Amino acid sequence: MTLSGATRTAAVIGDPVRHSRSPAIHNAAFAELGLDWVYVALPVPAGQGAAAVEAMRVLGIDGLSVTMPHKGAVASAVDRRSDAVEKLGACNCVAREGGVLIGHNTDGAGFVASVRADAGVELAGASVAVLGAGGAARAIVHAIGEAGVDRIVVVNRTATRAEETARLASVASVGDERDLAGVDVIVNATAVGMLGGPDPDGCPMPVDLLSDRQLVADIVYQPLRTPLLEAAAARGAKTVGGLGMLVHQAAVQFELWTGEQAPVQTMIDAVRSAPAA
Ligand code: NAP
Repeated sequence: MTLSGATRTAAVIGDPVRHSRSPAIHNAAFAELGLDWVYVALPVPAGQGAAAVEAMRVLGIDGLSVTMPHKGAVASAVDRRSDAVEKLGACNCVAREGGVLIGHNTDGAGFVASVRADAGVELAGASVAVLGAGGAARAIVHAIGEAGVDRIVVVNRTATRAEETARLASVASVGDERDLAGVDVIVNATAVGMLGGPDPDGCPMPVDLLSDRQLVADIVYQPLRTPLLEAAAARGAKTVGGLGMLVHQAAVQFELWTGEQAPVQTMIDAVRSAPAA
């Protein structure tokens, strides 16, 4: 890749952000399509998210990915917000249309696309249990509600957060473990099972409730095969890991910035060969 004065810039802001795999994913995609773009990671301290959006205007940055702890501040700082950002109050992507900065949230669309691509499953009409009520769970509940699922049950350790999350889709309600055996799809959107997280060896639900007629999606991607996915596969369930969501949400960002169709397989190969965070 040859950089020049005409090279366009995209970046991820966050704190921490040096571990991010997004530069590997996006730079591989730019290279694959021969686009004169570069993507870098910019550490931005907490409290400076709105300032970073102003810097995006001044510096002429054409695409911004946003990660912890800036998603709320950036949602407030952009000129226009997608419906998802309005509902979630969280923005993970800023795209430029002329001088106007538009905030998007691509996590939910990335999840829906990954279930379609990796499991060959359309979620419309399905009953889905979402475990968790954090930022990722909220994005997923909103997106699968929009995708036409029949019913969503939100199951979370902290009941008040479950209630807030269930308000994001008209077909969602708060449930508990007794609801899990009866649904078509179970989504782990808690941090349980994540390497370096609160309970890396744990499962977010009793595994004897899993069955071979279910699809189990775990959005944790470190490790690629979580204890939940191992248990689900052992019971004959279809499984989907979190790497697909990571790549597909990046693909949506890439398309918003460049207007080109993202080379998803190149992005998957790039993230698989990027050093572990
Ligand atoms: P978050 O906002 O901090 O939410 C964490 C969620 O996990 C909350 O629902 C929390 O419950 C629950 N939780 C944490 N520790 C728990 C425990 N010991 N037992 C039961 N529940 C527990 O985090 P997030 O941003 O939503 O991310 C959640 C997970 O998704 C992380 O592992 C992250 O890496 C992954 N993720 C993946 C992708 C992807 O593209 N594949 C994208 C985003 C996030 P309480 O509400 O009770 O605290």
